[in-house]
Amino acid sequence: MWLPGGCASRCVLSSFGRRIFGFSFHLPSARTCNTAAFMPEAAGFEGVSSRSALQEFSVASSEGFWAAVARQRLSWISPFHTVQDCDLSRGKIKWFEGGKLNVSVNCLDRHVHTCPERVALIWERDEPGSEVKVTYRQLLETTCRVGNLLRRHGVKRGDCVTIYMPPCPLAVASMLACARIGAAHNVVFAGFSAEALAERIRDAQSSTIITVNQGVRGGKVTELKKTVDTAVQSCPAVQQVFVAMRTENPVVMTARDVHMEEEMLKEDVVCEPAAMDSEDTLFLLYTSGSTGKPKGLVHTQAGYLLYAALTHRYVFDYHDGDVFGCVADIGWITGHSYSVYGPLANGGTTVLFESTPIYPDPGRYWETVQRLKINQFYGAPTAIRLLLKYGDQWVHKYDRSTLKTLGSVGEPINTEAWEWYHRVVGDGRCPVVDTWWQTETGGICIAPRPSDPDAEIVPGMAMRPFFGIKPVLMDTEGNVVTSNNTSGALCIAQPWPGMARTIHKNHQRFTETYCQPYPGYFFTGDGAYRSQEGYYQITGRLDDVINVSGHRIGTAEIEDVVNQCSSVAESAVVGYSHNIKGQGVYVFVVLKKSVEVQEANVSKQLNDMVSKKIAKYACPDCIQFVRRLPKTRSGKIMRRVLRKVVECELNGLGDLSTLDDPAVVQEIIEGHRDLLSKQQPR
Ligand code: AMP
Repeated sequence: MWLPGGCASRCVLSSFGRRIFGFSFHLPSARTCNTAAFMPEAAGFEGVSSRSALQEFSVASSEGFWAAVARQRLSWISPFHTVQDCDLSRGKIKWFEGGKLNVSVNCLDRHVHTCPERVALIWERDEPGSEVKVTYRQLLETTCRVGNLLRRHGVKRGDCVTIYMPPCPLAVASMLACARIGAAHNVVFAGFSAEALAERIRDAQSSTIITVNQGVRGGKVTELKKTVDTAVQSCPAVQQVFVAMRTENPVVMTARDVHMEEEMLKEDVVCEPAAMDSEDTLFLLYTSGSTGKPKGLVHTQAGYLLYAALTHRYVFDYHDGDVFGCVADIGWITGHSYSVYGPLANGGTTVLFESTPIYPDPGRYWETVQRLKINQFYGAPTAIRLLLKYGDQWVHKYDRSTLKTLGSVGEPINTEAWEWYHRVVGDGRCPVVDTWWQTETGGICIAPRPSDPDAEIVPGMAMRPFFGIKPVLMDTEGNVVTSNNTSGALCIAQPWPGMARTIHKNHQRFTETYCQPYPGYFFTGDGAYRSQEGYYQITGRLDDVINVSGHRIGTAEIEDVVNQCSSVAESAVVGYSHNIKGQGVYVFVVLKKSVEVQEANVSKQLNDMVSKKIAKYACPDCIQFVRRLPKTRSGKIMRRVLRKVVECELNGLGDLSTLDDPAVVQEIIEGHRDLLSKQQPR
């Protein structure tokens, strides 16, 4: 395994101090960092003598750049013959064709050859101080046992296995075991309800599920196996459920269920890896879109792994021997790319965090940093905002001197949270990288690092495109905006290896959503501002998707559930600014005329329904009962107006002339005012 050393972090610190505090650290000059020491492949790129030149080269000579890093950083069974074959206008994306490799070999075997006893995973269990360390050798053995177990139970190359587990070594081994035998995995966040899980199992056509008896998070036990039992009742294709034991409490086992650990012990610790084509599916991951149906985004083998590894190495300045602490759940793309694939491809040591930021108290993250000696900490703005409110003493209590880089992901980080993260958590000496990306992009696309060693970092801005990424802004007519100090729809102008290839069983939806809005470009669904200096700042979603605590949820998905309530005639869901969650869920409900119900009872019923059918995080923060919704003459709900009302932007309601009955808006404004005075929804 190769990871370059060098002086990147010292140079980062020097520039950072200058920009943020107006002073510089006394460190060697930035010029002592040469580009080939930073990225050895750069030695072969003509005319590249600085890191910004490297970024320009990676975009202008994308094929040359990606071919060189793919050859250098992945272990191939047979080499690729074509670097890329992409046509964004048709949604055709292929990288490294002809190449064969195995992702689990890249994440495990090659490190076992060089450093078998290096720690691959540190499982930070819910109970503080009970962490479990797993070496590369142990993780390979466990992965092989799971791979053999799956094979013995008939799982074949091309099948899709659904994994419904909290972050734990066996979940990682299960993901890698799928990769080893050529099956795809479909990890479903263990906070999703039985119905949401069932929908994802059916859509993914999984006949095999892996789960645990119970989950443990924040001191609470959740009945994950029972949730799977309920889910599979509506999934006739499911043939087997492997059940691992997270707690000692037995659960009811049926003929379909297999005791995972017991059966694994019967398996060999060697498992022949499948030779996979670069473009075979590695995994599906479901995410919300603007319709009620979640999309199973498809990521493939070589391009995804390479992109996760390269971004992990360069955005966070990860070096051999560092302990990388991404606290996201493995059920989200952040957990896939930065708890599992990126760090393991780089031979790194990665933390799997099972708990919450406030269990057993608000010092949990920083106590973990001290105990595990974490060097890079990667978390979400919602948690930072929450912890900020508990005060600095919870941070000061613990030694954070190992920290080198702080990362933020999932939603925009407001300046107050950014400053606190930088000043209090990082003692003002760690670069904060606000990383913008999405399930669709596979890895980080815009972040302050990597950059020239003396480059500034501006609080709350994702700033700079990663290698090979060419962001563009589009105006309302669909033209590329070339000037700076301007906003637009954020697109990416050329393909990169980490991008999703399609939506499972629905390529048409993939092209319609991402490729057709701006033909020839990948449309992200986000808006962005480009500053005078050319830095990017994400301004939020442009579609009907809201971001609650860093998790995407389509307003249509919640409306679908709310409308199933027998007393509800119709509803409209919008997001609103929430000072901890980023966005909260605001539901407008019109009750059926014929029913006599207490609003409080309906509210409770709606909360229960959303929690049961989707997940707790999607539950309404605020429910406003209205007589009518604002609609156009053609009957479309004008959510734009509702959004303005809940944000109290009454001067910006815009053109109301197309409304069927403009008087309805006044009623809603008054109802909202009443509600605010009663319950302070923020
Ligand atoms: P997901 O696919 O669930 O990771 O959600 C991706 C979405 O989260 C993006 O489309 C953005 O709307 C939002 N997002 C992620 N990271 C950032 C960031 N650093 N700044 C602003 N928004 C972000």
